Amino acid sequence: MPEERTLDFIRSIVEEDLRTGKYDGRVHTRFPPEPNGYLHIGHAKAINLNFSIAEEYGGLCNLRFDDTNPCMEEEEYVDSIMEDIHWLGFDWGDRLYYASDYFGKLYDYAVQLIEMGKAYVCDLSPEEIREYRGSLTEPGRNSPYRDRDVEENLDLFARMRAGEFPDGSRTLRARIDMAASNMNMRDPVMYRILHATHHRTGDEWCIYPMYDFTHCLSDSIERITHSNCSIEFEDHRALYDWFLDELGVYHPQQIEFARLNLTRTVLSKRKLKRLVEEGHVESWDDPRMPTLAGLRRRGYTPEAIREFLRRVGVAKTPTTIEIELLEHCLREDLNARAQRVMAVLRPLRLVIENYPEGRVEEVEAINNPEDSSAGTRKLPFSRELFVERTDFREDPPKKWFRLAPGREVRLKHGYLVTCNDVVRDPSSGEVVELRCEYDPESRGGEAPDGRKVRGTLHWVSAPHAVDAEVRLFDHLLLEEPPEGVEETDFENMINPDSREALSGCKLEPGLGDAEPGTICQFMRQGYFCADPADSREGESVWNRSVSLRDTWAKIEKSQSRG
Ligand code: ATP
Ligand code: MG
Repeated sequence: MPEERTLDFIRSIVEEDLRTGKYDGRVHTRFPPEPNGYLHIGHAKAINLNFSIAEEYGGLCNLRFDDTNPCMEEEEYVDSIMEDIHWLGFDWGDRLYYASDYFGKLYDYAVQLIEMGKAYVCDLSPEEIREYRGSLTEPGRNSPYRDRDVEENLDLFARMRAGEFPDGSRTLRARIDMAASNMNMRDPVMYRILHATHHRTGDEWCIYPMYDFTHCLSDSIERITHSNCSIEFEDHRALYDWFLDELGVYHPQQIEFARLNLTRTVLSKRKLKRLVEEGHVESWDDPRMPTLAGLRRRGYTPEAIREFLRRVGVAKTPTTIEIELLEHCLREDLNARAQRVMAVLRPLRLVIENYPEGRVEEVEAINNPEDSSAGTRKLPFSRELFVERTDFREDPPKKWFRLAPGREVRLKHGYLVTCNDVVRDPSSGEVVELRCEYDPESRGGEAPDGRKVRGTLHWVSAPHAVDAEVRLFDHLLLEEPPEGVEETDFENMINPDSREALSGCKLEPGLGDAEPGTICQFMRQGYFCADPADSREGESVWNRSVSLRDTWAKIEKSQSRG
């Protein structure tokens, strides 16, 4: 496919600004997470956009923690956010900033607005402020404190800072227009009193600036050119511009783009936090979570995520993307790169009666048919093997090409074997072992007389196999909420089959010392990642990233018809 570069609307703006010399040819973006949770794949869209634009146009991208809410923020989140951005393949160089670095400057700007008669200290309670604000259909009412004179405002603001007043008793508000049709312009709160310890500034402050006041000025201080944010900030842009214009400082432009939404999951830190706290998942990095930490543990690669984001693109109209596209991008990436190995998830013992006891042969296995440079490896083959229980049927249906009494199959890279008999558990009657015979002339899997054998099964040598726990995952949320159930009623929306753990799985011997994070294709079963968190001595734990069946093509086709 020819690489044709079509510009999204943000890159078009950037190119136009470069052409007209709007910011002296500079491109400077930032990614401004609030450290109140782990990053999810929606954030990856914003990260990818901001860092890639900087890269593509020879610019810079800052990382700035928007840490203005001391009650919600924690160091753990700061660390995880930095780790995740690096993992995605981006770097902020020496430009790591915190909004809290600017608390002093922001205070001075607030004083300046008071002196200009553009801000006032208000004694209304939070409830009263809400009440005075009016609604979309009704204008608000002026606060009775709106016309305090500058001297009194300066004095009260200084005393707010000095800690003289209790939480919630006063605020500093911008003096704009209580009748503005944009509710954000109805004298928004700039500062609130909060006697709380901040993760960086400790107890230095007991008043904290609000997001809208902080964000535009932080952008201005860092001389950002294009302040890209998701669409919910569109109605805040007027306020962003108002603060910067009134103060007459350097003025970046805010540009809004549509948030990424995905089917079968939630992309909101608040909701993800609930999932963790209510115990619906085990942790922020549970492999079912759409967090970057969860996706990484699941076996997602940064390359697959970036390819997914490239395909999703950047636009203004909100859309919900099928999660199958994300899975498709991972399959494509791993198909090209992942080593093929053999792993038996539900083992059934298979004994080759005519194979000499104690003999072990080494057979050669191709590591990746998609990548000839990946080479081959040796696998032990012996008299006792494990095969997949689901590859045997006593009473096979039509077109069954796997094992059944009297049927011959190929053991991948090994020999042809025929099932002669079964051994049953005397009490339950369950088949516990297959008694087979092999064709000694069929090494490599081809019959000497050219007879056709259609089924090819994976297997592992029983005495050499290593034990593992394997976890299979399905989408976190049900496809449709059950009748009368809200989408966020997690109790009833979680897919009860989203996680299945199988223990006693048998892997080929080379996987015994796989590094955590190793990703392989278990032949015929999917792609799996050695769990970095849970793997333990003697029994590794593997998470299934995706199955081999790609459902994206079907969805895409029905959409294009649609
Ligand atoms: P959430 O709603 O999940 O809590 P947030 O917007 O409150 O997310 P922030 O830490 O404020 O989280 O987000 C940092 C940046 O990431 C912001 O610029 C925001 O616009 C962007 N962002 C957050 N969620 C998405 C998303 N789903 N798609 C695209 N960008 C997003
Ligand atoms: Mg936010």
